[in-house]
Amino acid sequence: MRPVLHTILSTRVREAGVNVQLGVTVQHFVQNERRVRVELSDGSHHDYDLMLGADGVRSRIRTLLFPDAPTPTYTGQGVWRVVVPRPAAIDRRHFFLGGPVKVGLTPVSRAEMYMFLLETRKERAWVSDDRAHLELARLLHGYGGHLERIRVRLEQWMPVVYRPLEAFFLPAPWYRGRVLLLGDAAHPTSPQLASGAGMAIEDGLVLAEEMGRVTSVEAAYEAFMQRRFDRCQLVVRNSLEIGRREQRGDPIESQTILVEESLRSLAEPI
Ligand SMILES: Cc1cc2nc3c(=O)[nH]c(=O)nc-3n(C[C@H](O)[C@H](O)[C@H](O)COP(=O)(O)OP(=O)(O)OC[C@H]3O[C@@H](n4cnc5c(N)ncnc54)[C@H](O)[C@@H]3O)c2cc1C
Repeated sequence: MRPVLHTILSTRVREAGVNVQLGVTVQHFVQNERRVRVELSDGSHHDYDLMLGADGVRSRIRTLLFPDAPTPTYTGQGVWRVVVPRPAAIDRRHFFLGGPVKVGLTPVSRAEMYMFLLETRKERAWVSDDRAHLELARLLHGYGGHLERIRVRLEQWMPVVYRPLEAFFLPAPWYRGRVLLLGDAAHPTSPQLASGAGMAIEDGLVLAEEMGRVTSVEAAYEAFMQRRFDRCQLVVRNSLEIGRREQRGDPIESQTILVEESLRSLAEPI
């Protein structure tokens, strides 16, 4: 579960002695060949050797760095997610692909699993928290077995999350001078290949390796782009293409073949 991952990551960050400042954001920055001077939202100014924008799909750093960059666009689909009790029979991922929506069950602990439901919807929806479980129950109507058992137990207190899907691909390079974008700030993707967070984590690993190998920030950023661009592009392009095939109602085989091809490519060493 994400909160568990966040605790692991934030504990390691603290142990590494990183100075973490919460509750502020970057207001503005200027840079020269040697430094980035940052003004934070509390009015303070700081000088850094470099700056990384890892601030997600609506990245403020991206907007400041590349004002003309494309903005996230609704793909035509949305995902519903909820964590529910896990019966013993669900001991691995289960996908239900034949209906008007796609549904999946993924064990996340001994006692719990998470369910996603992928829906095509022409217009971007807004769903209030108190109605989300009703809407999800409506979409599950008609399924039997495990999914029916989940449907009849959905209640208002359960945190059902609905996310309209958004994506775009930023052309290379994802840096200017000493400022680089990472993760969803650079390559937000729809979740068809379940690889967005994986790509964000790989970005961090690759950048750390390149920083340790070369002597200038620009050389490290350039080496980073060489190793990251094609791989991230594959994830975004193929995820969006699978989403288009889903929306057109193409045969399931034509969707799963692209999933398999993509995952085979992603299994290659980075
Ligand atoms: C429905 C759905 C299902 C998904 N399923 C999967 C999956 O199964 N597997 C997978 O690998 N990926 C999945 N993803 C993708 C994954 O969630 C993202 O790719 C990943 O979270 C990107 O990580 P990030 O660190 O780049 O950005 P984020 O996780 O968005 O983190 C950005 C951080 O920056 C902070 N921030 C934002 N703006 C500012 C600002 N102005 N100032 C300071 N801080 C700021 C935010 O608070 C946040 O903490 C899914 C996404 C969706 C929508």
